[in-house]
Amino acid sequence: MFGFIDCHCHISAGDFDKDIDEVIENSQKAGLLALIAVAEHVGEFDKIIALSQRSPGFIFPCLGVHPVQDVSPEQQRGVVLQDLDAALPIIEKYKDHLVAIGEVGLDFTPRYISSETDKESQRQVLIRQAQIAKELDLPLNVHSRSAGRPTIHLLKEQGVEKALLHAFDGKPSVAMEGVKAGYFFSIPPSIIRSEQKQKLVKQLPLENICLETDSPALGPEKQVRNEPKNISISAEYISKIKGVSLEKVIEVTTQNALRLFPKLQSAIRR
Ligand SMILES: [Zn+2]
Repeated sequence: MFGFIDCHCHISAGDFDKDIDEVIENSQKAGLLALIAVAEHVGEFDKIIALSQRSPGFIFPCLGVHPVQDVSPEQQRGVVLQDLDAALPIIEKYKDHLVAIGEVGLDFTPRYISSETDKESQRQVLIRQAQIAKELDLPLNVHSRSAGRPTIHLLKEQGVEKALLHAFDGKPSVAMEGVKAGYFFSIPPSIIRSEQKQKLVKQLPLENICLETDSPALGPEKQVRNEPKNISISAEYISKIKGVSLEKVIEVTTQNALRLFPKLQSAIRR
């Protein structure tokens, strides 16, 4: 019997500091086999590695620099190459532990972008991280917001072969270009309140779908902390849309995740 793999979560977020052990225990009780923990900025790299070492074979780390960086809790800006410069030595240090480079991507939400230059520096940071992933033979764990088409085009231009597009917010027709390139798309529990994600799942072949929670964000209820244990909500909704059994959704999405993140295989008992 297969369990779930959460292909994209922020288990290092401060939201989990108080009850992290309980959150992990509850996720295991809910049938999770593995959590893929992504990073947004260099400041949390050590914490993610420490969490993965505390739960070996269950929490698997990704390091990368997100297209949006915090200036303060209230203020964000687009990423610049200097953010990546600070991150590179730490990625290099932990490269053998990583299952992917991420969270990387493009975010063209108007409030983060004041000029074409801002978009260009996001592109440069993504291109550099795509090169690093290729050098390390790792997949990319990718964010795209208001930038579905430019993200998929850039990945293809850069010759990226292994990528997870997480919580993709673009049109199904654009996602299908990613499917042709062999990319996977992970679906969060917020699908139950997102018509766009429901349409996306209708179009995507199950062979290209993975599960994620993006915890603590993108839960079934807005403004409520999301947890990895909610992954079953994504799986159940996909099973309803696709008209296949829940078991089938779990089995196929887990096989997809193992194909995309082969380093998980050694740790997962079948
Ligand atoms: Zn994320």
